[in-house]
Amino acid sequence: MSSTPTSADACLSIVHSLLCHRQGGESESFAKRAIESLVKKLKEKREELDSLITAITSNGAHPTKCVTIQRTLDGRLQVAGRKGFPHVIYAKIWRWPDLHKNELKHVKYCQYAFDLKCDSVCVNPFHYERVVSPGIGLYYVCIFFLMQWVIGKRITFHNMQNLTDKTVVEEIKIERHLFGNHMSNSKIE
Ligand SMILES: [Zn+2]
Repeated sequence: MSSTPTSADACLSIVHSLLCHRQGGESESFAKRAIESLVKKLKEKREELDSLITAITSNGAHPTKCVTIQRTLDGRLQVAGRKGFPHVIYAKIWRWPDLHKNELKHVKYCQYAFDLKCDSVCVNPFHYERVVSPGIGLYYVCIFFLMQWVIGKRITFHNMQNLTDKTVVEEIKIERHLFGNHMSNSKIE
């Protein structure tokens, strides 16, 4: 078991350690390129690099400071030929593998959050929370009310904000399996 690195360690060992915490939403090669790029940018900012290492290796167990990179002209970061918003790229690598853009809200104490439009952008994944847009939330509410009506059964669900399309589809499949043919396809779709 390798010990947690510090900012004094070589880039390579820091990258390796941080790569172990990726969530699998991106390919390993993409994640590696993105993490390498970030560690290089932070190499001269020891305190921020240590904040990043602590945040990632402790899975956000300890409060950490902002981890910043320079904001680009269009706000996006290019990694391995792909462009994306930096806070989204790193949140997807380390926290939510199925994250979409526009689903992140920064925490109150983040001083350089993407939306604050400072010269620097905070990419600390633990300085953001995932939110589901009101439109999507309403969609889920409609689906569940429809489901209750169709099968005449009270469906309980919790933590609706964390639902994804996939879970709704799975729920529908399970209900179909349990309640069989009287759930007509046309009513669901
Ligand atoms: Zn921050």
